[in-house]
Amino acid sequence: MDEKSSEKAHAYLKKLGVHIWTKTFVEGYENDVVFTNGTNFQTETLIWAAGVKGNPPSGIEANALGKGNRIITDAYCRLNGNEDVYILGDAALIQSEEYPKGLPMLASVAMQQGAYG
Ligand SMILES: Cc1cc2nc3c(=O)[nH]c(=O)nc-3n(C[C@H](O)[C@H](O)[C@H](O)COP(=O)(O)OP(=O)(O)OC[C@H]3O[C@@H](n4cnc5c(N)ncnc54)[C@H](O)[C@@H]3O)c2cc1C
Repeated sequence: MDEKSSEKAHAYLKKLGVHIWTKTFVEGYENDVVFTNGTNFQTETLIWAAGVKGNPPSGIEANALGKGNRIITDAYCRLNGNEDVYILGDAALIQSEEYPKGLPMLASVAMQQGAYG
C-alpha cells in the first residue's frame, strides 16, 4: 500500500493499543517466543500477516519480477516485451505514476483485469 495508507493504518492500530515494530522481520516461533532480527517477544498468540509471494513459472526471467515476485507487465497486462503473454490479478505488477508499487492485490482488481482480458 502507499505511504498515506500505511500511515493511516499505523495511527489506527496505535489508537487500539497495538505496539508496532517496523523493519522487524520474524525468523521463527517456538515455545511461545517469536524470534526476530532484533528483539524477541513472548506471546501465546501469533497472527501471521506477512502477505503473499508469487511463485512464477519457469521461463520468466528474474529481471521481469518485482516486489513479492509479481511479474512486471505493461498497462495492457502484457508481459513486458511480449505481444501474447498476459498476466492478471495478484501475479501482475502494473506500475504507473499513480501506482508506483503496482495496483493493490485485491479481488476487485483481478476481476476487472479478467473482464478486460
Ligand atoms: C487472507 C486473505 C484475505 C483477503 N481478503 C480480501 C478481501 O476482503 N477483499 C479483496 O478484494 N481481496 C482480498 N484478498 C485478496 C484476493 O483474494 C486476491 O487479490 C485475489 O484472489 C487475486 O485473484 P487472482 O485470480 O489473481 O489469484 P487467486 O485468487 O489466488 O487465484 C490463483 C489460482 O491459481 C491457482 N494456481 C496457482 N499456481 C498454479 C499453477 N502452477 N497452475 C495452475 N493453477 C495454479 C491457485 O490454486 C488459485 O486457484 C485476500 C487475500 C487473502 C490471502
